Formats: sequence, structure tokens, C-alpha cells
Amino acid sequence: AENVIEKDTVIIGSGPGGYVAAIRAAEYGQSVTVIEKSDTVGGVCLNVGCVPSKALIAAGNRLKQDRDSSVYGITTTGAEIDFAKTQEWKKTKVVDRMTNGVNMLLKKHKVEIINGEAYLDSDTQLRVMPSGPRQFMDNGGGQTIKFKNLILATGSRPVEIRGFKFNKRIIDSTGGLNLPEIPKEFVVIGGGYVGSELAGAYADLGAHVTILEGTGQIIPNFEKDMVSIVKKSLEAKGVTIITNAMAKKADETDNDVTVTYEVDGKEATVKADYCMVTVGRRPNTDNFGLEMTNVKTTDRGLIEVDEQGRTSVPNIYAVGDIVPGPALAHKAFFEAKVAAGAISGKNTANDFIGVPAVCFTDPELASVGLTKDQAKDKGIETNVAKFPFAGNARAVSLDEAEGFVRLVSDKKTGTLIGGQIVGPGASELVSELSLAINCQLNAEDLALTIHPHPTLGEPVQEAADILIGYPTHL
Ligand code: FAD
Repeated sequence: AENVIEKDTVIIGSGPGGYVAAIRAAEYGQSVTVIEKSDTVGGVCLNVGCVPSKALIAAGNRLKQDRDSSVYGITTTGAEIDFAKTQEWKKTKVVDRMTNGVNMLLKKHKVEIINGEAYLDSDTQLRVMPSGPRQFMDNGGGQTIKFKNLILATGSRPVEIRGFKFNKRIIDSTGGLNLPEIPKEFVVIGGGYVGSELAGAYADLGAHVTILEGTGQIIPNFEKDMVSIVKKSLEAKGVTIITNAMAKKADETDNDVTVTYEVDGKEATVKADYCMVTVGRRPNTDNFGLEMTNVKTTDRGLIEVDEQGRTSVPNIYAVGDIVPGPALAHKAFFEAKVAAGAISGKNTANDFIGVPAVCFTDPELASVGLTKDQAKDKGIETNVAKFPFAGNARAVSLDEAEGFVRLVSDKKTGTLIGGQIVGPGASELVSELSLAINCQLNAEDLALTIHPHPTLGEPVQEAADILIGYPTHL
């Protein structure tokens, strides 16, 4: 046919799944083409997810620390913020810098990047349309590409709920990251990790925040005793947390938005400058012609894959938010490397015992492997040990002595099977636990590993000491 080009390995999407698959496949000697509809590479994570959210959280932490430094005997006067400058810094010095970096890496690995929107025609062919409205679809326009192998990495998008149409004052997480000003009143619907992280950031920046959470607990994927520490800290920042709250509708004017919700059968309203809806994300599997292929999806719209990321069509792979498992960037990175290896004939496989999950609240939450309850559900008897940051000199000298490290081991074998951390630096500390769990270390291995003093990492060793029956600072 006319206007058909042939490619070896084609990847749709340049987020954590797509760009890492591209780099790894190129390292394995593949000729790689990435199709990305957005103007920049990096996907949600770099442009409107992990990275800009951490930048805002960091700005909030700085401001709060400056304002709260009296505990050290320091008097600060007039710590002020020019939010336009914060946003400019986030865009140019953080997001642009990181996306440019990914662009350079792709070029270095001779990956071809096509800017456009991919639509699948069959198990071996797709079309690329100019990004934007889809008027080209019906007349069969666009560039047709035949591929040998395809990796789908199309990611996910925010869920919209009835009565809350995204607009100027009713916004999704992307709007929440790019606010032109610090709101005086900010309503967050959905206290999952995205909602709670940004609620904390804006509270640190000076907003009064209300979280409306539909279930009985915010950040429900972490254990209650961990979340209660974060809840207390959010409330100390002035955040109002309303659980079991059903958001019903939002009435938007040019200047504000009034949110109606129901608790215990009673209706109430809250007025705010902005209302951010963060109630979950939907996989992008319904908007690019997947139905033209034989790729099977689950009833939740996720793509079924084997342990190498291969779909029901042998030459099509899928990674990242569109496959089952936690929708996290580092999980996408891992799957991407596995799929790139599989295409290149390597003996790679996904093994998910050690996927850490982190929530960048204040203090941070981190968890890897199994909790005590999850182990019990699997019929595994456990030993559990918990060491508080209150007993850690470094945490105390940082004035951040809230929280704990908990280790879970298999009672029979002594092998570490899980770990949970709430406290300062949890996001960094959890990697040691991931390593331990991945390498099937036991408590003794951690207890006999010398940790430098005084550091936030010591509670890991202290918890291991408890597990082997010889607590030191407890
Ligand atoms: P995405 O990053 O969604 O990338 C998909 C790419 O595919 C996009 O660039 C899109 O434009 C492109 N695309 C889609 N369809 C087509 C098509 N038909 N043609 C061409 N291109 C297409 N995760 C963490 O691990 N840590 C965090 O701290 C964290 N924070 C987050 C904060 C927020 C506010 C949000 C929203 C998410 C956060 N995440 C975090 C989740 C993380 O961003 C995702 O798990 C990750 O981006 C998924 O990567 P992906 O490659 O599957 O897809």
C-alpha cells in the first residue's frame, strides 16, 4: 500500500513506561520509534505528576520550615512567597530540565520520536495522526506504520465525577499543580495519595484546605496507625478532613466554587477558590483503537499481560498504568525494562514482591512487601517489630521525631517479607527494605549491618534488633 513505513520496535507513549522501554530496547540493539502525542516527552510523571508535585511539596516544606524555625531559637521575619516565581521555577528549573534530559537520552540512544497520536489498525499496523482533534480518522488519513513489535505505554488520565465538570475552578490534579495563585480556600475531593500530598503542600503554602473523602480513611492503601500520624499532621497544618463525605455537586462562578456534599445523610456546602477532584485515574485503553487488535483487557479496562508484559497478541506488549498493579512510575520503569528484554530475547520477568509505595505527605509514608494483615490473609505467620523515630537521635535533632519503622518477617523462616515506614525520610529509607525483601534477607542480616550514627536509617537496624530478640534503644 502507499504511504506505509515499516518499523521494528514501536512504542506508544513516552512516560516512565515508554521512554525507559525505548532506552532499554535501544541498549539491547533494537531500532526504536516512540510515538508521543504531547509536545514534551516524559508522560504524566515528569510533566504533571510525580515530579512537579514533589517540587510544590518541597516549596511548601521550605516555607513552613522558615516560618516554624523558632523551635531552633531562630527568629525569621517576613518569610514570604511569590507563587508566580515558584511556578516558574517548577516549570523551567524542574519539569523542563527533566523532560529535556529524557529527550537527550532518547536522542543519545538513537530513538526516533514521532510527535502525533497513534491509533491501532490491527495487530501489526497503526496510524499516526497529528495531535489534536480527530477529523483525520474517518478518511483514513495519517501516516501508516507497520511494526514488528509494539509496546503500549499510553498511561492513564484523571477520572471525572458526575456534577464536577473540569473547568476553571473545578480542576483535576494537573490544574491543581498549575494554579496561578495560592488559594485561600481549597477543596480536595478524594483523599488518596495525590489529593493528600497536594492538600499538605497547599496548606504549607498558606491555603485553608478541606479534604472530602468518600471512605472512612484518607490514604486508605496505608495502614491505619501510619495514616493517623499523617492525619494529625495535616490537621495541625489547619487542614479540615471530612471522611465518609459524598461529594454531590459543585456550582462554579468566575471567582469561586461551592461544593455540596453529604455526611451522615445531611447535606452541607463549602465555598472555595478551587475544587480539585482526585478520585482516581482511568487507564488509557479506550481511546486509541485497541479494539481493532486481539489484545485482551480485564473488566476494569486494564490490559492482560504475562510476566514479561506480553499481551494476548505475541508481538504486542503493555507496561505502566494500563496493566494491573499499582499505578506508579517505578513499577512502569521496571515493567519497561522487562518488556524491552523480552522483545530482545532476554530472559527477563516481572517479580512484584518488592514494589515500594510512597506517599510524600509530611511525614512521608512508605511501604513495601506485605503488611502483617496481608501476610495473615496469605496464611503466613509473622513476627513484627516496630521502632519509633522518638528513639532516634537524628530525628529528634531535626525536630521530626514522629513515626516509626516496622518490619514484618516470616515466623517460620525469619525472612523479611514486609516493611512500613512513617516518618522523616521514609521515601528514601524504604529502598533498604526493598533490597532486603528482594534479596530475601532475614532480620539478622539487617541487625548485623552497621548503620551510621546518628542517621534516620538506624531505626531499621533497631527494628531488626527487636526482631532477633535483642532490642538496643528500646
Ligand atoms: P504516562 O506517564 O501516563 O504516559 C503516557 C504517555 O503516553 C503520555 O505522554 C501520553 O501523552 C502518551 N499517549 C497516550 N496515548 C497516546 C497515543 N494514542 N498516541 C501517542 N501518545 C499517547 N508515581 C510515582 O511512582 N511516584 C509519585 O510520586 C507519583 N506522583 C504522582 C502525582 C500525580 C499528581 C499523578 C497524577 C501521578 C503520580 N504518579 C506517581 C503516578 C505516575 O505519574 C504514573 O504511574 C506514571 O506516569 C505512569 O507511567 P506510564 O508510562 O504508564 O504513563
